[in-house]
Amino acid sequence: MTAAQQTIHVGGEWRAALSGATREIIDPADATAFALVAEGGVQDTDDAVAAARAAFDAGSWPRTPVAERAALLRRVADLLKRDRELIGSLESQDAGKTLEEGRVDVDCVRDAFLYFADLVANEDGGGRVVDAGSDEIRSVVVHEPVGVCALITPWNYPLLQASWKIAPALAAGNTFVIKPSEITPLSTVVLVELLLEAGLPLGAANVVTGPGDTVGARLAEHPDVDLVSFTGGLVSGTKVARAAADSVKKVALELGGKNPNVVFADACATPEGFDTAVDQALNAAFIHSGQVCSAGSRLIVEASLRERFVAELSRRAAHIRLGRGTDEGVECGPLVSAAQLARTEEYVASALGEGAVLRAGGERPAGAGYFYRPTVLDRCHRRMRVVREEVFGPVLTVETFETEDEAVALANDTEFGLAGAVWTADEDRAQRVAARLRHGTVWINDFHPYLPQAEWGGFGKSGIGRELGPSGLAEYRETKHIYRNLAPRPVRWFAGETQKDQA
Ligand code: NAD
Repeated sequence: MTAAQQTIHVGGEWRAALSGATREIIDPADATAFALVAEGGVQDTDDAVAAARAAFDAGSWPRTPVAERAALLRRVADLLKRDRELIGSLESQDAGKTLEEGRVDVDCVRDAFLYFADLVANEDGGGRVVDAGSDEIRSVVVHEPVGVCALITPWNYPLLQASWKIAPALAAGNTFVIKPSEITPLSTVVLVELLLEAGLPLGAANVVTGPGDTVGARLAEHPDVDLVSFTGGLVSGTKVARAAADSVKKVALELGGKNPNVVFADACATPEGFDTAVDQALNAAFIHSGQVCSAGSRLIVEASLRERFVAELSRRAAHIRLGRGTDEGVECGPLVSAAQLARTEEYVASALGEGAVLRAGGERPAGAGYFYRPTVLDRCHRRMRVVREEVFGPVLTVETFETEDEAVALANDTEFGLAGAVWTADEDRAQRVAARLRHGTVWINDFHPYLPQAEWGGFGKSGIGRELGPSGLAEYRETKHIYRNLAPRPVRWFAGETQKDQA
C-alpha cells in the first residue's frame, strides 16, 4: 500500500481523508488493530465522483477499443496471480478467513477478470441489426457504457464482490468509485493499485474508504453517479435504493439470503450418499463461519432421516477446528467483528427461547478473537426469527418435512430467494423440485459452487439484477437504438397546415 492512511484514491492521487480522520482495521482472530486507513467523508466522495465523471466525459477509457480494454483486464489477472499469496493472506487476516480461502478468493477474482475480458473481446462490436421491414431503413441496437458507477461492497468477500463489479464495469467502458466495507477495505485498495499498474487511465478507478452512512449514502444519492451497484444487507440496500431514486440512477442490489438445503431420505440410502449429504450440509452452513450470502443456513430434512442426519452433522460440527486463518490445520476462522459475534449470540438465545434444541455449539470458545462455535439448532419451525432472518454466523437450523410439496413450501417460505439446494437420488424429483424453488441459484446434489459464466443474484428481497454471466455485463451498459432512414421524405402528418401555407 502506498502509505498508511492514504487509502483514498482520487483521479490518480493516493491521499488521506480531507478531515484527517482514520480508522483502525481489526484482526478478528485476536481483536487487535493491524492497519490504519483513511476515514473518508462526503467531500472526499464528491472529489472521487468528480474525478470519475471527468474521466468518463473526457478521458480515454470509455473510448478505448474493446480489445485493449480486454487486454488490460487480462494484465490485471496476471498481476493477481503474481500477488496471490500476499493478497490472499491480507484477505485472510482482514476478513477472518483461512489462508486457503483467501487464496481461493484471489483465484476467483482472477477468473472474473478473465471471464469479462473474454466476454467483451468475443462480442460482435457492430451491434444487433434489427429487421425494420424496409430496405430504406437500417436499424441497429448498440450497447454503451452507463457512465460513472458507484460500487459499494460488503466485508464477507471483500475482493471477490469488488471484482464482480469492477471487472464488468471496466469491460463495458465505465469509470467508477468503489467504497469497500469500512471493516475490510485493504484488499480493495490493493486491487485498485493493480489496476493502475496494469495501465488503467487515471481517474477511471477511484476508491474512498469510509463508512456506509456517509460515503456510501453520498454515492447512492450523488447526481453525477449514473449507476449504483450495491452488495450488502437488506437494510442498507433499501436505503441505497431510496437514496438513488431521486436522481433516477440505475440500481443493482445483491442482498442477503436465508437459503434452504433440502435433503430427501433417498439421497442418503447408501453410506456414501449419507456421508456426502452430511459433509456438504456442514460446508453449506459453516464455511467462513456462515458469513456467506448463500450459506445453507436452513436444513430442511425428510422427517424419517432427521435424527440420524442431525446426530452425525452435530458430531462433525463439534469437531470443526477454529482458529486464526493462517494457522496450520485451522478449518474455520472467527466472525468478522464484535458486532457480528453479538448478533449471532442474540439469535441463538432467541431461538432457544422459542423452543429450539441445541445439538452443537451455542457458545464462544475461550480466548481472544470473535470466535463462535458452529451451532446446530434442532426442532426449529418457520415462525422462529432464527429461521426467517439472516444470522450471518455459524448457525444452522433444522426443520423437517413429510412430503415433496411440504419440502418445496418450506424452502420457498422466505422473503429472500438467493440460493437453495435439493439432495435426492431421484432424477425426476430433482428436476421437479428445482423448477419449483423460487431462488436465483438452485443446486442439485451440491452446495455453493458458482460459475463466472452463470448469472448470480436473487429473487424477492435478495436483490435486483444479476452479477456475473452476460447479464452481469449488461448491468453496466445502456442500450441505444440507432435508426437510420436511407430515403428521408416529409411525413405529411400535418398535411392540412402545409396546404394552407401554400394556398
Ligand atoms: P452492510 O449492508 O452492512 O454493508 C454493505 C456495504 O454498504 C458496506 O460497504 C457499508 O459501508 C455500506 N453501507 C451501509 N449503509 C449504507 C448506506 N446507508 N448507504 C450506502 N452504503 C451503505 O452489509 P455487510 O454487513 O457488509 O455484509 C453482509 C451482507 O451482505 C449480508 O446481508 C449478505 O447476505 C450480503 N451479501 C450478499 C451477497 C450477494 O451476492 N447477494 C454477497 C455478499 C454479501
